[in-house]
Amino acid sequence: MVNALELSGVHQRYAREPVLDGVDLQVEGGSFTAVLGASGSGKTTLLRVIAGFERIESGVVRLGATVFDDGRTTLRPERRRIGYVPQDGALFPHLRVSANVAFGLRRKAGRHHVAALLDAVGLAGLERRYPHQLSGGQQQRVALARALAIEPEVVLLDEPFASLDAAMRASVRREVAQILRDRGTTTVLVTHDQDEALSMADRVAVLRDGRIVADSGPEELYRSPVDANLAGFLGEANLLAGTIEGGVAATPLGRLVLQDGIVASWPGPGAAAVVLVRPEQFEVWTTLTAVPSGGGIPARVIDRAFFGHDAVLRVVATGLADREPLLVRVTGPGAPAPGTDVLLTVRAPVMAWPAPDPAGAVVIDIDGDAADAEGTHLTRQARRPADQEISS
Ligand code: ADP
Repeated sequence: MVNALELSGVHQRYAREPVLDGVDLQVEGGSFTAVLGASGSGKTTLLRVIAGFERIESGVVRLGATVFDDGRTTLRPERRRIGYVPQDGALFPHLRVSANVAFGLRRKAGRHHVAALLDAVGLAGLERRYPHQLSGGQQQRVALARALAIEPEVVLLDEPFASLDAAMRASVRREVAQILRDRGTTTVLVTHDQDEALSMADRVAVLRDGRIVADSGPEELYRSPVDANLAGFLGEANLLAGTIEGGVAATPLGRLVLQDGIVASWPGPGAAAVVLVRPEQFEVWTTLTAVPSGGGIPARVIDRAFFGHDAVLRVVATGLADREPLLVRVTGPGAPAPGTDVLLTVRAPVMAWPAPDPAGAVVIDIDGDAADAEGTHLTRQARRPADQEISS
């Protein structure tokens, strides 16, 4: 059986500044976990703690029965059997590919071993090249081969695809995930890129303010985020104020069926809620298409961002004209142009959270500024991390 990696109650600080503030994280042996967090949230520190490059103040880091660090004693990095792939690959520019891969190995570890590793990462035949003679994606795969050379139990990836261009990134991500899965290596990837986390990992843990605030499968995380803030971090989010009646939320866009089980612990009927409608949950009906049977919400397209495969419309719904426009995702080709009148329907079920005490005046803190409580009229959009200039 492959050992689980476990962090419990981990605290770490630089000088006086706490960075990890009671991190609990369980990574099943052989699984692929992504830790998603904004820049500066402590992701690199978390990996350095696991690798043994930073000591912890309190808590425990262990792999199976082996304690790596408990705040008093620490196991040296080279005894942890951990492969580390840093952000930029950090290859030695003056060493050929084969020497880079063999660097951490004892002398005469065997050319066969290096050749087998390069074969595994799809770089057979490039042994004699220097790093500058490789593409960015190839360099990342050399860095991965070097991390795998010590036959690690755990591989740590620190935003390893950030420097690759978009076209290459998707395929390198796919290949790297496949190589690690095939080998059954326990993997922890840290990233600020929600697409990367959601597309590569079996589980995604979210690091915020030095703690893990959510930890679940990617689909569940996106569908039912723990709060409005996380909803915005994971993608575009239309946030509406509403009230709850049974399994339904009454909102300015009509009555929307809620996801199963989310209101079980709520204060009761009539409770105020913040309701999440993802842009892709809207269906858009133009005059050229049939009219929805239950009627739709009349709206006008005011803006369109075209991405090829899809497009995001900004749409003003009648009755919500004094609010921020709604974001609506549609198929790219044929997307309605600005000025088009449309009808909107919502594909339920939707996610919702209890609205904080209206008397408290603070409803959602998405952009860093607190939004005012406005009873049932509130409509705000959480912005994607890209808009918030979150970068590594
Ligand atoms: P992330 O990888 O999520 O961007 P880091 O773990 O690199 O975050 O950093 C977390 C916080 O700790 C940041 O505020 C950063 O400035 C600070 N920090 C990181 N490394 C050091 C260090 N060696 N000394 C002091 N502060 C540091």
